[in-house]
Amino acid sequence: MHKNAFDNGQIKIGIMGGTFDPIHYGHLFAAEAARVEFGLSKVIFIPVGSPPHKQSQRISHPEHRYRATALAVSSNPNFEVSRLEVDKSGITYTFDTMKKLRSIYGKDADIYFITGADAVLELLTWYKFKDLFTLCRFITVTRPGYNYMELEQKIEEISSNYGGEILCLEVPLLDISSTDIRERIRSGKAVKYLLPEEVEAYIFKNGLYKE
Ligand code: NAP
Repeated sequence: MHKNAFDNGQIKIGIMGGTFDPIHYGHLFAAEAARVEFGLSKVIFIPVGSPPHKQSQRISHPEHRYRATALAVSSNPNFEVSRLEVDKSGITYTFDTMKKLRSIYGKDADIYFITGADAVLELLTWYKFKDLFTLCRFITVTRPGYNYMELEQKIEEISSNYGGEILCLEVPLLDISSTDIRERIRSGKAVKYLLPEEVEAYIFKNGLYKE
């Protein structure tokens, strides 16, 4: 385990960014594992509003993704959910979100953006990525058995060319995927035990992912 939450007098916060369409146990476990491993005082889940890389893709309404995420995190006192991105009009960029979080938590807060390895491989295409590296560090979560070759090269490139800091964390359960859950619901297959019961109930009550 790394340093504790306030050992430099700094607050350490994890930001769990994702589409969460829908949120599942892989996301929840990754956030909790990162919180414990890196001594984060809390993890804030921020469902994306209108993600830049999914403009041509159909995703569920932000309000549904936000409400399901709120239900999923409600039993963990160290988790929060934020409306920062779902309430924003237009495309939501992580840079803008981080700037806002800096203004809330101050320049001394230690902020970690937690996301999947695929997102990290694309990081150098993100809006204002160089400035983003001055606002937060990254924790990239991978499933056991992940082939690190490409990821390690990217992390090295980001570190030596742009000073970006990316930490890796291997976590079980990341084989669960939102895409697979949506397809399972569409074809009437089981999803129980892949995601919290409250989220499953919310999905069925609102008829999500049927078509
Ligand atoms: P994605 O491309 O849908 O996800 C890629 C992979 O990572 C999927 O396997 C996904 O699994 C997994 N994943 C996504 N978020 C994760 C998380 N927090 N923890 C663990 N695994 C995660 O990624 P996304 O969800 O749309 O985007 C991730 C974050 O990057 C969002 O906050 C988004 O706003 C940000 N982003 C920003 C920019 C930009 O500012 N220009 C561009 C791209 C992405 P599931 O499908 O099961 O979730």
